[in-house]
Amino acid sequence: MGHVGAVYRGRFAPSPTGLLHAGSLVAALASWLDARAHGGTWLVRIEDVDRPRCVPGAGEGILAQLATCGLTPDEPPWWQSQRGDAYAAALQRLVDAGWAYPCACTRQDIEAAWTARGVPRTRHVERPYPGTCRPEAGGLRGRPARAWRLHVGRVIADLGLPVPLVWHDRRLGPQAQDVETAVGDFVLKRADGWWAYQLAVVVDDGAQGITDIVRGEDLADNTPRQIVLQRALGLPTPRYLHTPLVRGDDGEKLSKGNGARPLALDDPLAAVAAAAVVLDLPPTEGDVASSLRRWITAWRARWVDPAPPH
Ligand code: GLU
Repeated sequence: MGHVGAVYRGRFAPSPTGLLHAGSLVAALASWLDARAHGGTWLVRIEDVDRPRCVPGAGEGILAQLATCGLTPDEPPWWQSQRGDAYAAALQRLVDAGWAYPCACTRQDIEAAWTARGVPRTRHVERPYPGTCRPEAGGLRGRPARAWRLHVGRVIADLGLPVPLVWHDRRLGPQAQDVETAVGDFVLKRADGWWAYQLAVVVDDGAQGITDIVRGEDLADNTPRQIVLQRALGLPTPRYLHTPLVRGDDGEKLSKGNGARPLALDDPLAAVAAAAVVLDLPPTEGDVASSLRRWITAWRARWVDPAPPH
């Protein structure tokens, strides 16, 4: 295959807030297949940064579920809970560049700032940060720092990034987002002291040399934020492929909240076959191993030649 030759490193990065369910297995299977179809390396990273939401034992449980489904990583899994020093170093680098600042605002403060500007609240839509604690707006003004935020506008201006930020998804096609108006200065370190997903994922994808991110479509709108952070930290931007979601009874993304049950380990073939259906792969034949082999071939024919990383 023409595109093999360059290094391919992919990963599946579950948050251990519970065991894998039918939806999360789709992303796992897709990232595994994509790595195999490109002759690449496949990694698993347990994203246990959001400690309050992590379930004890879920990380180990997920690794066991993956192994039962024939999806074993090529290198020992990373655990984000052990990566605090790397996240701290990255934050320091952003602070030194003038691209991150401490923030004292509570959710109510953010709400009040928008209301004061006469911007009505849209239900279920999180407001972008209004910039109250930006250094040029007066900083903390004596209030205690709670979170650390990325100064998105400054990064974009200093690095000359395009507005809107455009990126390519191998399945969804060309995408664009004005990060500053859509999400604003997002959090790097949370008010409760834990590292934010955006920072941890970008630092680790960089440290692990990830060239290809294959994950669920619900994460697609995080991509522009992550690209801005990659640029700020001098990291390359991987290729992206966001996979179809499994919907729950309520039509929303399948989650524990709408009836997702942990995958049963007693019938792994049924579980991977159901995930393969979502990915439009041919029906199962034989056991898990022979089905996986067959799907690799089908996958190769489908997602050939991803555009080179930019
Ligand atoms: N840990 C994130 C999640 O489970 C996914 C991270 C990623 O694939 O970028 O939702």
